[in-house]
Amino acid sequence: MVLSTGLADVMRYNVRGPLAGGFMRSMLAPELIVITGPMCSGKTEELIRYMRQGEHAKLNMLVVKPSVDTRDGQALAIKSRNGHNLVAIDVPNAQAILEHVTPEHLWIGVDEAHFFDIELVAVVMQLVRMGKRVIVSGLDLDYREKPFEVLAQLMALAQEVQKLTAVCSKCRVRHASRSQRLTDDTSRIAVGDKEYEPRCLQCFVPPNGVAHSQHSSSIDTLSS
Ligand SMILES: [Zn+2]
Repeated sequence: MVLSTGLADVMRYNVRGPLAGGFMRSMLAPELIVITGPMCSGKTEELIRYMRQGEHAKLNMLVVKPSVDTRDGQALAIKSRNGHNLVAIDVPNAQAILEHVTPEHLWIGVDEAHFFDIELVAVVMQLVRMGKRVIVSGLDLDYREKPFEVLAQLMALAQEVQKLTAVCSKCRVRHASRSQRLTDDTSRIAVGDKEYEPRCLQCFVPPNGVAHSQHSSSIDTLSS
């Protein structure tokens, strides 16, 4: 019988017997897991999928998101694009996460981590050292193709990193790893799905720059 990874993990957790201790340790081991990628790559869906496993296993969990993220207009719900919801607590900053954590919480989910400042790194590591499993989701790069420092550091510290891709909105054939800003806004973060679209490396055009594909064609011209 073939089980999806998620269900298999849940069934392992529910195993009772000589091996149960080992499986439970693996499910409950304090770890940092980072889910990252460009806009529309399913980061929130993946965070929700992960947390659902904990829900099935009846683990005590907490999910937080920055209060600046008001895209869905619902202060207490993470709403993924496929319609699945998970109740989350809005926090004004990283330090405020600690006010909501209790000894009973085993898994802590953090959505839209790129909205937090660098203080999040210390808070997350404090939680991991308290024995929690922390699952962080957020953009790895800004619209200029520069890493969000908070995500870069968390990725380096993580035991597991999932880099997701979207479908490129321009060529629609390649995997998108960049977020193309569609407006002239020059602030680092613009809240809203209409501000961006996912692009592949070839179709992405950095602000005041040229697309990678144009770089490639000049190289082709030079070498021919
Ligand atoms: Zn493309």
